[in-house]
Amino acid sequence: MKILFLTPYDNNYRYRSAFSKSLSYMPLTMPYLAALTPEEYHAEFCAVDEGVQKVSYEKLEPYDIVAITAVTSSVKRGYELAELFRRRGSYIVMGGHHVTLLPDEAAQYADTVLTGPADRVWREFITDYANGAPKKRYDGQPCDIGTVNVIPKRELMAKRKYIGVPTVIANFGCTNKCEFCVINSFWGGRHTMRKVEDVIEEIRSLKKKRILFLDPSPTSNRVYAKAFYEALIPLKIKWAGLCTTDIYKDEELFDLMIRSGCIGILMGFETFSEESLRESNKRNTVEQYKAVVEKFHQNGVTILGTFMIGFDGDTRESIRKMPDYIEEIGVDIPRFAILTPYPNTPTFERLSTEGRILSRDWNDYDSIHAVFQPKNCTQRELEEMLAEVSNECYTFRRIRRRALKNKYGGLIKFAVNIGFRMYNKKVAKTLAKH
Ligand code: SF4
Repeated sequence: MKILFLTPYDNNYRYRSAFSKSLSYMPLTMPYLAALTPEEYHAEFCAVDEGVQKVSYEKLEPYDIVAITAVTSSVKRGYELAELFRRRGSYIVMGGHHVTLLPDEAAQYADTVLTGPADRVWREFITDYANGAPKKRYDGQPCDIGTVNVIPKRELMAKRKYIGVPTVIANFGCTNKCEFCVINSFWGGRHTMRKVEDVIEEIRSLKKKRILFLDPSPTSNRVYAKAFYEALIPLKIKWAGLCTTDIYKDEELFDLMIRSGCIGILMGFETFSEESLRESNKRNTVEQYKAVVEKFHQNGVTILGTFMIGFDGDTRESIRKMPDYIEEIGVDIPRFAILTPYPNTPTFERLSTEGRILSRDWNDYDSIHAVFQPKNCTQRELEEMLAEVSNECYTFRRIRRRALKNKYGGLIKFAVNIGFRMYNKKVAKTLAKH
């Protein structure tokens, strides 16, 4: 059985530059699916991540199964690839965030559709396929990734195309209910944790001193998070990962996080407006932003902060003030996105009911284009403001001031800052032509 795993490119890949390696980490979906394939079928695998690789498909050998995983902004390319490989006689199976949100749409292009986490249903599908009776659809909830120890087959991936730091996932999903987020719909509001000892064993086997954790909400379950960070301490690794802004509420957890080797955190601040936080059901406290960042800085941690524009509470004035606010709270690497109402999320439903969805071209659902009618400006103005605030945050003057504020992060932080500066310039150029 020959299986080709495909991750199609999305619009963002057009903005990549010589620095893109400093911004690309290895995704684990394809390595996980390969590892989950029952050994008795002696499957041979190939994986292509179009986000970092250019492949001439004509030259590829025929595959029995082509498995495509897509998010909304890459799904049209995913459908194109599905048609291409179907013509060549492969069996097409599709899954991932967009397919979970709109399975009936995906079923027009795929022989089988998997919704939600694929760990259990992938094995079921492969067994049914081998027995000549694959079903049209498999629903992945509830999943059992927390109880089955699976080590992703990273060797499948083009390692040199990514940063040299291996990616690991300890827990999946999130119990928060931010209105715009697809994680919630995908994982059914559940938080699934792997056994701490399994994750530790996996990290040991990687034999690396730096790790990037991809867990979307690692501190949702504080008991688990504490046990996990405690178990990391003896490994003496340095790691980066995600964390919510409410970490300041738990001193013990924060302390364990630092002692376990945390050196970089991605944090979703999203907005400085209490009204927008309420609108999106995001449980952040604006007045704590500065203190949280300072606390991390004092412990040598670099903060990559994500911000979103386009909430109903946003005005031109409030958006233009964001670079100053961001500098004030001290975020080291700021990233902006336009609020994107992914299909079938509560944000999409709300805006759709209000007649404000302006585009259903999934290519535009890339968080750079405005696909809905903003409340206080036009679609075009919102896109212009994205380019404006992104570029403003990456002037050399601001990069320098940020570097002086937090001496940690060194060359990697500098490379990422330059990478995002170049990326932002390309985005602005493309949006100007749009
Ligand atoms: S906390 Fe993060 S992962 Fe969880 S629902 Fe909100 S945005 Fe999504």
